[in-house]
Amino acid sequence: MNRIQHYLSNQSLKGKWALTSAAVIFVSFAVICSVLYIAIHSWLLNEQEQSVKRTMDDLTVFFESQGNFLTIHDIQSNKGLMNSIVDKNQTVRILNKDKIEILRINDSTKIMPSVPDNLPNHGYAISKEKVENVDTFLAASTIRIGPFSGYIQLTHPLTSFESLMRYILTAMCILGLGALIASAGIGYLLATTLLKPLDDLRLEMTEVAEQGFTAPIKLQYDAKDEIGDLLTVYRSMMGELEQSFLSQQQFISDASHELRTPIQVVEGHLSLIKRWGKDDPSVLEESLNTSLLEITRMKKLIEEMLELARREQNDLQNNADILMITTDIMEEIKVLSPDATIDLEVDPEISYWAIISDNAYGQILRNLLQNAIRYSENSPKIKIQLSKQHESVQIEVSDKGIGIAEEDQSRIFDRFYRVDSSRSRDGGGTGLGLSIVNMLVNKYRGTIKVKSKLHFGSTFTIELPAEK
Ligand code: ADP
Repeated sequence: MNRIQHYLSNQSLKGKWALTSAAVIFVSFAVICSVLYIAIHSWLLNEQEQSVKRTMDDLTVFFESQGNFLTIHDIQSNKGLMNSIVDKNQTVRILNKDKIEILRINDSTKIMPSVPDNLPNHGYAISKEKVENVDTFLAASTIRIGPFSGYIQLTHPLTSFESLMRYILTAMCILGLGALIASAGIGYLLATTLLKPLDDLRLEMTEVAEQGFTAPIKLQYDAKDEIGDLLTVYRSMMGELEQSFLSQQQFISDASHELRTPIQVVEGHLSLIKRWGKDDPSVLEESLNTSLLEITRMKKLIEEMLELARREQNDLQNNADILMITTDIMEEIKVLSPDATIDLEVDPEISYWAIISDNAYGQILRNLLQNAIRYSENSPKIKIQLSKQHESVQIEVSDKGIGIAEEDQSRIFDRFYRVDSSRSRDGGGTGLGLSIVNMLVNKYRGTIKVKSKLHFGSTFTIELPAEK
């Protein structure tokens, strides 16, 4: 059994299919044939035995009809009549009481066995024995009519029955072999046809493995079966993989580009210091200050990039008290930017609990408030509004700052995208703040929207799933 399993596991799907279907068809065919063979065998054998019984009955009736004065001569003169009773393949002997043959009808069995001694007084005895190497029905009975007493002996060789059975067996074997070959062939053909899309998919996957995501998906298969489903899953998986691969590449190239600038600035200033700074304290002071500023910016950039790259599992069991965290962060921001006014609009009767971690929400709000301050001229005026709907908590952060042009609004959540890079650079922006906000909001199954009008201000609306 283990060997068969091992052999099958090393076969291709087509091979397995062909072998299994051939084996199943062959076994079913063999079982049906065996049952049929046994049924035909016992039915035909029974027919042969009935024929023996019929002849013996007819012979008994014949003798009984001869009256009470039956002589050996009478018996011999009735040979013709008895001939018509006995089948051609049967041999009948009439013997006297000393078991000496007085009449023989037919000669299909040359050497007749001796008549057994223990015969029943009425009726006859039937047995099946080998005579002249052939299975034969043997029947014998005693006759006592008037002065005559003797025996009837009948042999019925099963030669024609056996040759018929051999013929049936041979036909069944040939048919079985034919069925085996046909089922294996049809199974293989079917498997080849049905598994063709799977084969194509394998080839395509090999191509992708060799050429990468650039290899086009050529396979066309529209049927709504398991292979169709597999293809759909494969295509969407490839799409996602390609997307994440491309965005990772984009991230790496953006990140290296963004890091190169501060490094070049620091490098330039260090060379300035080396050349002039030793003699000119003003150059030294200015270059050191600029280098420090760039290094601080670079540190922030690296921290934010790491934050974005970190793909920690979201903990959907986390619940945050949105109102409490909002108040805490507002206080924190007010200390850092004392000229900003931040108002909070909230219904004190409602509890604002959302499914998000304290840290994640804190980071989201901090980034939105920092942007609102950074992109406001004069003293920033910010309003935070909390509201609750059936299944979500809404947080709205509005400012009266410089606003975002319509065409930029769809891109501000992209990594490193800055509307006015010189401005956000001055203000310490990296272009990653809103990407981090977007990533965190998505992570906790929330949504973020922006509404803005250039020179009038912007409103960021976040919706988070409420705690049930
Ligand atoms: P940055 O670090 O440059 O602020 P963000 O990802 O936080 O990067 O923001 C991307 C860009 O979106 C910013 O450069 C800025 O131009 C614009 N922006 C973000 N928030 C505001 C806002 N409240 N008002 C006006 N512009 C904004």
